[in-house]
Amino acid sequence: MAIGDTNNSAAQSDDGGDDGNVAVRRTWLGVGRVWGGAWRAALNVVLPPLCLGCQARLLDHDALCSECWRRVDFIRPPLCDRLGLPMPYDTGGIMISAAAAAHPPPFERARAVARYDGLMRDLIHDFKFRDTHDARRLFGRWLCQAAPELVASADIIIPVPLARSRLLARRFNQAQILATEVARMSGKTLLPLALRRTRATAHQIGLTRRERERNVAGAFAVHPNAIGRVAGKSVLLIDDVMTTGATVSAATKALKKAAAARVDVLTLALVTEPHA
Ligand SMILES: [Zn+2]
Repeated sequence: MAIGDTNNSAAQSDDGGDDGNVAVRRTWLGVGRVWGGAWRAALNVVLPPLCLGCQARLLDHDALCSECWRRVDFIRPPLCDRLGLPMPYDTGGIMISAAAAAHPPPFERARAVARYDGLMRDLIHDFKFRDTHDARRLFGRWLCQAAPELVASADIIIPVPLARSRLLARRFNQAQILATEVARMSGKTLLPLALRRTRATAHQIGLTRRERERNVAGAFAVHPNAIGRVAGKSVLLIDDVMTTGATVSAATKALKKAAAARVDVLTLALVTEPHA
């Protein structure tokens, strides 16, 4: 980007007509702004801003009405520092839940925007299965707001890859869309294909914690071309839903095998089961 700007300045100097060019550019920028505003206004008439939950008319795009907002069960501090689970009270220091103490995860910290229930469940279902990605900007904002410290400390952002058969059926990887939004909003480097699935896995739905771990164990690897870009880096791993953490744990182990310095996990939703 910066290189392009520098080249433009050089081209103006060579023409010897800096003032004229700048004036022309300002005029076009002004026209662009007027047209941009007009375009947005026209767009709002053709595609009026609607609540992503209930389609009620709103003033802004990519938002929820206040009623739908209340139907999202946002996860708020105090949290377990490792798993991001809500804790009953704040001790003032770093807190580790009983679940994290019993089964320490391979990743450093996990955070999620909301519990996987209520409206969040419906929004994610639409996002995954209806091929409508209207909520992607809202999801990106929520992810950045849920864990600013994780986003800030990341060197690279990597999505959990989808199984090949599911990618063929769905045509997109929802985790990659989320990771793209977080990278766009934060300015961090996105490595969308750094992780890959090395084998097919069964659906995790209905499996116990142990079965989930066995199902995805060794199912991920860092792409040989990406190993040099992962080694020594702080990775932010992004997925849509975290249940027992088996999938993100298996992905984390693959990243650490490729010498990632640390891995944090950021998801839209967390299934808060007793043994999560
Ligand atoms: Zn609504």
